[in-house]
Amino acid sequence: MKTTDTNVKIPMALTVENVCPMCGESHYLDLDEDSSARYMAYLMGFGLIQEALPDYNAIEREFCKTGYCPKCQNLLFEVDTSNSRIV
Ligand SMILES: [Zn+2]
Repeated sequence: MKTTDTNVKIPMALTVENVCPMCGESHYLDLDEDSSARYMAYLMGFGLIQEALPDYNAIEREFCKTGYCPKCQNLLFEVDTSNSRIV
């Protein structure tokens, strides 16, 4: 008998791509599958960015939220951006 599994999980890992509103350069951040699913929910208006991306640091979350690249966040907020995985 052929069964249909309706709970198939489609693996999907997003890369967040943003054009920085300050310098105009494109930057990218790879999300893992679980984070991607939570980030999609966040974009649709569910929850907070802190809850969506708990495994990512404040610099990376700010990038996902506002698009500011590490270099410009460093200039704007005087934060240490050396540990970010944004490329
Ligand atoms: Zn920038």
